[in-house]
Amino acid sequence: HAKSRGTGSYAFFDDQLRASAVEQLKVTTDLTESLDDHEFELYYQSIIDVATGETAAFEALIRWHHDGIVHPPEYFIPIAESSDIIIDIGRWALGRACEQLAQWRNAIDGGNQAVSVNLSARQLRDVDFVSTVTDTLAAYGLPASALWLELTETALIDDDDIALTILEQLSSLGVTICIDDFGIGYSALGNLNKYPIDVVKIDKSFIAALGTQDEGDPKHHVLVTSIEAMSTALGLITVAEGVESADQLEQVKAIGCQFAQGWLFGMPLPMMQPWTDHVRPASQLRAQGQ
Ligand code: C2E
Ligand code: MG
Ligand code: MG
Ligand code: MG
Repeated sequence: HAKSRGTGSYAFFDDQLRASAVEQLKVTTDLTESLDDHEFELYYQSIIDVATGETAAFEALIRWHHDGIVHPPEYFIPIAESSDIIIDIGRWALGRACEQLAQWRNAIDGGNQAVSVNLSARQLRDVDFVSTVTDTLAAYGLPASALWLELTETALIDDDDIALTILEQLSSLGVTICIDDFGIGYSALGNLNKYPIDVVKIDKSFIAALGTQDEGDPKHHVLVTSIEAMSTALGLITVAEGVESADQLEQVKAIGCQFAQGWLFGMPLPMMQPWTDHVRPASQLRAQGQ
């Protein structure tokens, strides 16, 4: 389409492409050093049992403290996923999440919460992944029931037997397997039966579309109701993601979702702040002309 805008557009288009390739390369290089530099951090967000209001699990959401900025996962996870760097980052996240959960379970009387860790497709092709999980749980004295793993539908579309074997092993250990962002991917519904899935996390776009009871489009209500009904019929538990209002909570409760997660209950929050000594404050960056 650049062609129709004349030759000038070509030059502009090329510069954009080159900039993004250079940026990608820089991010990739920087990511390889970031584990050693302790630049990653996990934030945590509660997953609430709607019947009791209690936290059933904490979802671990990664952040990257780099160049004085807290980068969200959308910025660097897709780049990390294009190489084996994601294996190392994923292993770090699993270990850190389990370490933190073990501390909470010790600190909270009768603490039996779980921690929910997001996985990338590549981790499900890593033959060492199951032993990484068992070693990590053992290292922090956690039962397998303390760990939920979240994967998106796209992690399963390769129809890969390795992923199936890994998930079956994890499932028989007692780890809870969640499908994340359900409903926006391209996977066949049959995957809910093919893979040992326990929990369906209904994508936040469906919850956002619920709007208010009066103004909400009833068609969106039908979608959430249908996902919930199908999940229940298959023996799966549902989490409504992205619950931002009391009204949305009432609706997902009425629909029958067992769990809910979202800003209504709290933003994802850091639990400790170990980065302050190695990320330079913005004022210092400006002084250096960066
Ligand atoms: P996700 O697993 O679906 O996580 C939920 C996202 O929704 C989080 O974004 C969270 O901050 C956001 N969120 C929570 N409540 C609300 C709400 O009420 N409204 C809205 N609009 N958003 C809400 P975040 O933290 O930016 O993470 C984005 C994605 O990055 C995650 O989506 C997950 O797919 C991926 N991710 C995060 N941590 C990791 C990780 O350690 N490893 C891998 N492979 N992916 C990760
Ligand atoms: Mg650097
Ligand atoms: Mg998730
Ligand atoms: Mg999600």
